[in-house]
Amino acid sequence: MSHALIIGAGIAGPVLAVALSKVGIDATLYERDAPDQDRLGAWISFQANGMDALRAVGLAAPVEELGYPMDDISFINGKGKHLGRMPMAARRPDGQVSLLMPRAELYRALADQARAHGVRVEYGKEFVTAEATADGVTARFADGSVAMGDFLVGADGIHSRVRTTIDPDAAVPRYVPVLNTGGYIPGFTVEARQREFLMQFGTKCFFAWMPTPDGGTVWFANPPMKHEPAKGVLSGMSDAQWRGWLHELMDGDAGPAAAIIDAAPGPLTGWTTYDMPVVKRWHDGAGRMVLIGDAAHATAPSAGQGAAMSLEDAVVLAQCLRDCPDAAAAFAHYELLRRERVERIVKHGHRSSNQKAAGPVARLLRDAMLPMIFRRAERDGGESMMWLQGHHLDFDSPVTPIIARA
Ligand SMILES: Cc1cc2nc3c(=O)[nH]c(=O)nc-3n(C[C@H](O)[C@H](O)[C@H](O)COP(=O)(O)OP(=O)(O)OC[C@H]3O[C@@H](n4cnc5c(N)ncnc54)[C@H](O)[C@@H]3O)c2cc1C
Repeated sequence: MSHALIIGAGIAGPVLAVALSKVGIDATLYERDAPDQDRLGAWISFQANGMDALRAVGLAAPVEELGYPMDDISFINGKGKHLGRMPMAARRPDGQVSLLMPRAELYRALADQARAHGVRVEYGKEFVTAEATADGVTARFADGSVAMGDFLVGADGIHSRVRTTIDPDAAVPRYVPVLNTGGYIPGFTVEARQREFLMQFGTKCFFAWMPTPDGGTVWFANPPMKHEPAKGVLSGMSDAQWRGWLHELMDGDAGPAAAIIDAAPGPLTGWTTYDMPVVKRWHDGAGRMVLIGDAAHATAPSAGQGAAMSLEDAVVLAQCLRDCPDAAAAFAHYELLRRERVERIVKHGHRSSNQKAAGPVARLLRDAMLPMIFRRAERDGGESMMWLQGHHLDFDSPVTPIIARA
């Protein structure tokens, strides 16, 4: 049985480990952080195609129970004017809906599932570099330890070290000029329809909220910040500074933003966000190292698709390793099957982030255009998003055509 070293136990890593266990490949997960480490972005929206990928490898049920279904998104402007309502997900024939869930619980559930499938998960293991050898690969960690396997998968996120190990000249993540902050407020309700996210293109800041069935509210805001803040600037901001800034940004806009900012449990914190447009090399060409998830192609959070894309990668890579003659052919075929789709989504995410970061002139244009765009989306009932959220993976079907090693 061959052995895979998977770097990163975020979203893609554990799911890949489970998928590999189904095709007779044994894996160990190496995660830099502690199991209970705070995660970027408190809540995560998990779109229908991500759930489909989980279902393909039998992991949908434990994730589904963590989430609140979301049916629609309604948009308003700073004055509270309704701009449009669109379905959160395309109307899939299998009825799969999108879900909103706490990120920390999602990570925990996926790592638990990996362990339940016999995968070893090692925490506190910071990957530093790796070398391909004649018969495998050796990974080196910051604590001085090494691990050997037949191949290594970089599921180590947007700031991937596996990416630079494969290609020292790889592109670096592109800063997205809106920050992200938010969380969950238990026992706090806002006037809004159940299962509907309300999103506000505020005068100065994008702000969103959704009531949860247990009587709470999930919210997030995207304060604009043109240039990437220096390291330590955001983490150095106090709870009072965050609240003061958010109040200032939302001042004068209609809606419950001010009440949400006051009610949110502290300390508030925020995150910078990035995307990763084109990573030229997804694998080393020798069947020893390959990238999946954000390490290979990160979309801005506005697309709400990063998690789903990572999961689709994990499933397709396992299929390729099952059906291709060797790992080199499998990695090449996986790239062939995935690259076009993920790069299209990265572009889509970039466009929606730009709308959130619009300056005064672009804002006028955006506000004039949005009702038209939303009316069209409302009319088509999500059909135009079927390429994205309607995607279906059947794990048992062989991937074709199989590329023979050159
Ligand atoms: C603020 C924010 C909000 C977001 N909201 C959404 C959303 O609502 N919906 C959505 O679909 N996507 C969202 N995303 C994107 C989504 O989080 C990512 O696309 C997704 O997590 C990618 O999964 P991954 O497994 O590739 O990487 P990650 O989930 O980032 O996992 C990578 C793992 O690798 C570990 N790691 C990193 N470096 C090393 C190392 N050197 N050695 C060992 N381990 C290492 C990390 O600790 C981490 O556990 C958001 C992102 C941010 C920043």
